Amino acid sequence: MSRVLLTGGTGYIGSHTAVSLLESGHEVVVVDNLVNSKIDSIREVEKLMNAKVPTYIGDVQDEQLMNRIFTEQHIDVVIHFAGLKAVGESVHKPLEYYQNNFDSTLVLIRTMLAHQVNNIVFSSSATVYDPANDPERVEGMPVGNCSCPYGWTKFMIEQIIRDCCHAYPQLNAVMLRYFNPVGAHPSGVIGENPLGIPNNLMPYIQQVAVGKLDHLNIFGNDYPTPDGTCVRDYIHVCDLADAHALACDYLLKHEGCCQEINIGSGHGVSVMELVTAFEKANNMKLAYQFAPRREGDLPIFFANADKARELLGFKTRRSVEDMCRDAYRYQQKQSGKE
Ligand code: NAD
Ligand code: UDP
Repeated sequence: MSRVLLTGGTGYIGSHTAVSLLESGHEVVVVDNLVNSKIDSIREVEKLMNAKVPTYIGDVQDEQLMNRIFTEQHIDVVIHFAGLKAVGESVHKPLEYYQNNFDSTLVLIRTMLAHQVNNIVFSSSATVYDPANDPERVEGMPVGNCSCPYGWTKFMIEQIIRDCCHAYPQLNAVMLRYFNPVGAHPSGVIGENPLGIPNNLMPYIQQVAVGKLDHLNIFGNDYPTPDGTCVRDYIHVCDLADAHALACDYLLKHEGCCQEINIGSGHGVSVMELVTAFEKANNMKLAYQFAPRREGDLPIFFANADKARELLGFKTRRSVEDMCRDAYRYQQKQSGKE
């Protein structure tokens, strides 16, 4: 058993990872400034798991706070989720994105090293891959040519972590490149409910399904794909959470490691296929219409999931229908509250 600090732990992926870690016998500590989440998610995790999760409300850029956390808690591994993540917003607020995402990482690694905490899992993204690559993304492929400041923060933070692993050989790192996380815990008590009109496909579908939005616009049906709509690699957030628990176990057993690992299902699913799966899983019809392509969208990309299987023993267990059913259940509970 180990104690894992989740920066950004009240957020969407962090709260699901807290459940996975508690299920696999780890202890969890959280720090979050609540800039994009509510403390309620961790309270729900505590109820669900009948466990206590010490939670610090504050900013990872606050070095004093981070020193206090590492002094008060005996941390074995840090999972660094904290960051701003809205692609479009990052184009308009690059300074906020670079400052928040870089400074939190620099302060975090500095305080970790000062307290001899040597294991870090970083939330990276498939967005680091150069768009010119073949659709099946493999870890060794070229990265860069990112489409927005958010993507560049992931690209650069990966580099910062590689440089730190080189300079401080005691530091062990796993950088998980997530593909498209969707869905919610099957209990329906934690999930993703973005403020305002969602940018991402599944949250948008969820809101159409409960009548909060009128219809889905499918951006483009003339792509060179089997049904003309874009193909992505959707992964159930609980599978993604499980990958973090495996990454912690891996770090604790592999000194001197610094690895980038794709976390996806390894299968592409089109927008139209996701819509149909949602309708089937929830026995309903979704209102949609075809709309022009969205600028910057690639027709197809999906993960090569071999490295995650080989190094972490990770394989997705939940189906696309599970993702759709769990996403809808969560959204229904949320609309009951609103
Ligand atoms: P989220 O916004 O729900 O969670 C991030 C959390 O970090 C939030 O709770 C926010 O309040 C907190 N936070 C931000 N800056 C902070 C700071 N300086 N100090 C303390 N807390 C801070 O997002 P998520 O979807 O759970 O994503 C988690 C991580 O995974 C992010 O780094 C994100 O970029 C990355 N990621 C997400 C996706 C996705 O599709 N959701 C895909 C690839 C990578
Ligand atoms: N998409 C769509 N309508 C929406 C939101 C997204 O058709 O309202 C499409 C989008 O064009 C892309 C796919 O759904 O092809 C996944 O989009 P998302 O933003 O969720 O993920 P990303 O494109 O960042 O991988």
